[in-house]
Amino acid sequence: VQAVFRSNLSHLLELMGSGKESLIFMKKRTKRFTAQWALAAQRLAQKLGGVRRDQKQILVHIGFLTEESGDVFSPRVLKGGPLGEMVQWADILAALYVLGHGLRITVSLKELQSNLGVPPGRGNCPLTMPLPFDLIYTDYHGLQQMKQHMGLSFRKYRCRIRVIDTFGTEPAYNHEEYATLHGYRTNWGYWNLNPKQFMTMFPHTPDNSFMGFVSEELNETEKQLIKDGKASNMAVVYGKEASIWKLQGKEKFLSILNKYMEVHGTVYYESQRPPEVPAFVKNHGLLPQPEFQQLLRKAKLFIGFGFPYEGPAPLEAIANGCVFLQSRFSPPHSSLNHEFFRGKPTSREVFSQHPYAENFIGKPHVWTVDYNNSEEFEAAIQAIMTTQVDPYLPYEYTCEGMLERIHAYIQHQDFCASPGPAPPGARAPQSPFILAPNATHLEWTRNASLAPGAWPPAHSLQAWLAAAGRACTDACLDHGLICEPSFFPFLNSQDAFQKLQVPCDGIESEMNHLYPAFAQPGQECFLQKEPLLFSCAGSSTKYRRLCPCRDFRKGQVALCQDCL
Ligand code: UDP
Repeated sequence: VQAVFRSNLSHLLELMGSGKESLIFMKKRTKRFTAQWALAAQRLAQKLGGVRRDQKQILVHIGFLTEESGDVFSPRVLKGGPLGEMVQWADILAALYVLGHGLRITVSLKELQSNLGVPPGRGNCPLTMPLPFDLIYTDYHGLQQMKQHMGLSFRKYRCRIRVIDTFGTEPAYNHEEYATLHGYRTNWGYWNLNPKQFMTMFPHTPDNSFMGFVSEELNETEKQLIKDGKASNMAVVYGKEASIWKLQGKEKFLSILNKYMEVHGTVYYESQRPPEVPAFVKNHGLLPQPEFQQLLRKAKLFIGFGFPYEGPAPLEAIANGCVFLQSRFSPPHSSLNHEFFRGKPTSREVFSQHPYAENFIGKPHVWTVDYNNSEEFEAAIQAIMTTQVDPYLPYEYTCEGMLERIHAYIQHQDFCASPGPAPPGARAPQSPFILAPNATHLEWTRNASLAPGAWPPAHSLQAWLAAAGRACTDACLDHGLICEPSFFPFLNSQDAFQKLQVPCDGIESEMNHLYPAFAQPGQECFLQKEPLLFSCAGSSTKYRRLCPCRDFRKGQVALCQDCL
C-alpha cells in the first residue's frame, strides 16, 4: 500500500489518548503545529515527485510515560520538569502520521501487550507470534518492557525497533561482550542492536540516526515584525528549574549582564518567588509554550547557565531572533566527570551547554564564551546588543526537514536484512578496483557495482586516514564531510590500507571499536572483527583510524546528496 500525506491531524490527537499532563502538553503542541506540518507535507510531496512510499504499520510505545516505569515526568510537566522528551515524541508522532503511515500509540504496559497480541494475564508469551507492525518506535524503558513481554519474538523482531535515545549510544557501549570486557557497561546499554537503531535528539555521533524534533518556522513578514519589535536590552535566562540559579560563581557574570540588560526568567514556582532567583530578575514563572515563544520574540538574548544540556529551547530562541550566549566548558563535561552524564552509554565530551548550537549554528546567532573571564563575557554582551541578527532555523529542525529525514529512514533503513551494519565478510574486502586513491584519501568510484542498492549509496564514500588521537567523527568534519559507519565494511581490508599507502608491517583482525586502524609504533594494521563495533566515535593516541566519510545535504546532515 502507498502512503498518502495527511494534513488533518484530528485523528492523531484522538490516537494520543488523554489524561496525563504529558499527553496534554504533547497534544497542545501537535495542534499548534498543524498548519506547519500541512505546509511541510505539501512541500515535501512536491520535492519527492511521484516517488513510491510504502505505508508501514507502526507502533509507538512511549516507555517513559508508562506507570510501570515510574512515569516521573508527567507529574512535573507543570512544575518545571524536563519537556524536551515530550517535545520530541509529539513531533515524531506528528511526522509519522503526516507521512501517512498506520499508527498505534501506547503509554501503558497493558496497551502494549494487547497490541503485541500477548494474551491478557500472561506476563510473558514464550511463543513467537507474528508481529503486526513493520516498525516499533520506543525508548530504553519500552525496550526493557518489550524484552520482558515478547518472549522469543523479541529476538526475532528487534531489528524492527527504533530506540529514541536523547544523548545517544555509542557502539562500544552497545556490544554486550565488548562492553563487559572493556568497562563500557552502563545501566542502559549493551542491547547488541545496530547502533543506527538508536535515534538521537541532536546529531551527536553519526553512529546513531539523528531523529531531532521541530521548531516553528517564520515567514518573511513574521521575521521582519520580530526584528522590529526586539528590545535590545532584554535577556531571558535558559532554565525552568530554580536549581540552575544555584550555580557557583554566577554573581560575577550576572552582575555584568544586569548592568546592560533587563534579566527575565521562566522559573517555576509554587506560591512565592524562588529564593535562588535574585530580586532584580523579572521571573514569569513557567510559561505555556506559546507564551514562552512570545517572550523570546521580544528578547535580544537567551542566556544559558550551563544546564540543562542540549535541549530544544536554544533552537527556539534562535528561531525567534535571539542570540544564544552560553559558557564554554573547560575541561569538557562527559560521563567521566559529570553526574548528569554518568552512566550514559556515550564517551562524548561536551564542550559547551549546547554543542549543536555552537558547532552547527555559531556566530552571529550563538556565542560560546568563558564565563569566568569577565572581560570576555562583558565584550560579548556589548557586541550582542549592537548586532542585528535574523531569526534562523536550520532546515533539519523545520517540519519539512524532519519529514524528509524520517521519510528517508523509513524507506531505506533496514536492519532486518543483515545482523550488523553490513553482512560480515560478505561485501567487505573484495575487489581491488573499487577504491580509487586520490593522493591523500580514497574515493569510491561511481561505477561501483559491488553494493547496488546500498543506502547511503556507496559512491558518496570518501575514506581518510585520521591523525593519531583523532576520532572519525572529527576527522571527517575536518574535511567538510560526515562519518558514515555503514561504509566501514568497504574499508575493513588490507586493500584499503594499501591504497592509502599505509606501510603495514603486519595485519591482524580483532574486536576493537577503533578499528580499522594503523598503530604507529610497530607499524601494525588492525582490521575490525565485529561489524557491530564499527564506530565513528572514539579515539586513542595509539592509533590512526581509517575513516569512512560522506557528503551531506546543506542543513540536513543525516542525508547524503544522493540519499533521497
Ligand atoms: N518551555 C516552556 N515554558 C517555559 C520554558 C520552556 O514551555 O517557560 C519549553 C520550551 O518551549 C521547550 C521545552 O520547554 O520546547 C523544553 O526545553 P528545554 O530546552 O528547557 O529542555 P528540557 O530540559 O526541558 O528537556
